[in-house]
Amino acid sequence: MQYHSTRGSAPAVDSAQAVLTGLASDGGLYLPEQIPTFDWKKCVSSDTFSMATQILSAFLPDIPNMEELVRLAYTGKFETEELTPTVAAGPFTVLELFRGPTSAFKDVALSMLPRLMTAAKTVKGAQKDILILTATSGDTGKAALVGFQDVPGIKICVFYPDGGVSDVQRRQMVSQEGGNVTVCAVRGNFDDAQTGVKEIFTACRGKELPFELSSANSINIGRLAPQITYYFKAYKDLLDAGKIQLGDKVNFSVPTGNFGDILAGWLAGALGLPVGTLICASNANNVLTDFIRTGTYDRRRPLYKTQSPSMDILVSSNLERLLYLLSGDTALVAELMRKLQTEGSYTVPAQLQEKIGNQFWAGCCDDDGASEVIGRVFREYGYLCDTHTAAGWKVAEDYVNQTGDHRPMVVLSTASPYKFPAAVLAAIGGSCDGDEFAQMEALEQVSGVAIPGNLAGLRQKPERHTGVINKEEMPEFVLAL
Ligand SMILES: *Cc1c(COP(=O)(O)O)cnc(C)c1O
Repeated sequence: MQYHSTRGSAPAVDSAQAVLTGLASDGGLYLPEQIPTFDWKKCVSSDTFSMATQILSAFLPDIPNMEELVRLAYTGKFETEELTPTVAAGPFTVLELFRGPTSAFKDVALSMLPRLMTAAKTVKGAQKDILILTATSGDTGKAALVGFQDVPGIKICVFYPDGGVSDVQRRQMVSQEGGNVTVCAVRGNFDDAQTGVKEIFTACRGKELPFELSSANSINIGRLAPQITYYFKAYKDLLDAGKIQLGDKVNFSVPTGNFGDILAGWLAGALGLPVGTLICASNANNVLTDFIRTGTYDRRRPLYKTQSPSMDILVSSNLERLLYLLSGDTALVAELMRKLQTEGSYTVPAQLQEKIGNQFWAGCCDDDGASEVIGRVFREYGYLCDTHTAAGWKVAEDYVNQTGDHRPMVVLSTASPYKFPAAVLAAIGGSCDGDEFAQMEALEQVSGVAIPGNLAGLRQKPERHTGVINKEEMPEFVLAL
């Protein structure tokens, strides 16, 4: 299957090469020439591993032995057997995506990506080791480290802003084991770390190096495709619970940042799954809410630091894929992306806006709104959710109230409440002056929900990666790996 760039001027590649390369050479994102034909009914009646195998084989047909890769990626790694369980809570069904090894939803994709990369490397006969470079504002770093730990032929280096991640997130990363992993703090903020990584990519382009550089963020189709599976799984759970009949449409509310998670939902629909409305939930950084409502994307606005930091984003990379999928027009996408880069905003043609509006609905929820939801959902339904999930819940409520659409609603839950213990504890009426670990313990006492094992054991783990460097030192640091 040929993959081409959303901007149209990079050469087409096969699916294995698309996974290896990540970003297309014209700056665009890879997509298959057409959506694969797919037996969605068979998929929905399968178990989770088989669902993942069918979906990944359809999107990445050049990667062989998919069943084996899926088994290796997921067996024994998640705290629940079905990987992404659903829980009925009041009017909605919560799809829990945070049961993986680092309690982050990114575990679902980052457990799979390394397997896909090594297999793609074999298919393409690539000799050199791959070096994954990642800048993280928190969750991606640890999930990527665990996913790539001791994977042969791949090294990973994660940079995080010194003092810019939570104590728990820092401890998760600096305690990481594995012979192929490096973690280093960079003086500055997340943007400094991110810019530093981008500059290394630019500086290394075309150079003879002992390794091939790649990245682990959601621009890679190998990270996006594994996320389609849990939409099928949630649908199956609703069928099994007798809440829907085969063919009934289901709505999904998705706490959104880079637009990868919600785009996976659109792709599930494109494969045939009866997806109703996809609800794009943002926090106070509501650039996507404005875009979906008006057709104008405008990143010229302040970036607020919120209690749902994984959604603190002004440029949602994967939106580019949706613009292409709904317009089929690479020249248009290239022009819109050029405008975003140079002018900071763009407006899509009316026809494209209408198509987006037919399938997506958008809303936002600030920190106070999220806190209110966490408290109310816990009191009324006994369900404890995190700050990101709370935004998804609130916007789902707004959607139902404003449209009167009462189809079954699945709210995607993207983080464990223990990732943000202070905010969650306060929201359910508790308080604690101690550090984040003390707050976790207090939250466990007040809520009765157990701390995930990987977080509970963190305090005792030795710190292995203690380096702090300046941004200017990053290239040298990487070359010495
Ligand atoms: C990454 C992340 C998101 C956003 O997902 P996108 O695919 O970037 O839209 C939402 N919530 C949490 C907790 C995350 O880690």
